Amino acid sequence: MSKITAADLEAAIRNVPDFPKPGIQFKDITPVLGDAALFAGSIDLLASHHADSRIDAVVGIDARGFIFAAAAARQLNTAFVPIRKKGKLPYKTIEENFSLEYGEDTVAIHEDALQPGARVLLLDDLLATGGTAAAATKLVQKVGAEIVEIGFLIELSFLNGREKLNGHPIHSVITY
Ligand code: AMP
Repeated sequence: MSKITAADLEAAIRNVPDFPKPGIQFKDITPVLGDAALFAGSIDLLASHHADSRIDAVVGIDARGFIFAAAAARQLNTAFVPIRKKGKLPYKTIEENFSLEYGEDTVAIHEDALQPGARVLLLDDLLATGGTAAAATKLVQKVGAEIVEIGFLIELSFLNGREKLNGHPIHSVITY
């Protein structure tokens, strides 16, 4: 079978207007996950360029980021570490607040989840305003690890989220 391209993934991603609230164009990735070849292709496009570099852990952001990060970690033969919404991780955590369109949210990581100096690939499904990924980046750095790259299946470039990511290398498979 021919290699899956970003255009194949883009064709499968479903745009759902006004979800979860009016004005949001929700990018539904479930058609990608639900197709074996597209799912495998999405992981290749997010991770395969790291196959020959040292990645110690793939860190995924709650919740859809877990899907891609866990599969990428397996492909790269490395560890998977979750960054979760506040109150979900059972052991001692480090937390980071960030602003949403309305209000605030908090993400957390286990304080011992990463070794100091660990080389991290941070993954989420989608970069919008960048608040979530910026907070996750700070958590990785607070535990003393190093961001090698921040990867997204989808970047909504018109929201300028990458400006919040402090110059870290960013790799987006599909850009709108
Ligand atoms: P942000 O912090 O604004 O960059 O938002 C990123 C997070 O919100 C990601 O974890 C996405 O899963 C989710 N998200 C934001 N906007 C959308 C959208 N239009 N479609 C799907 N998910 C979205």
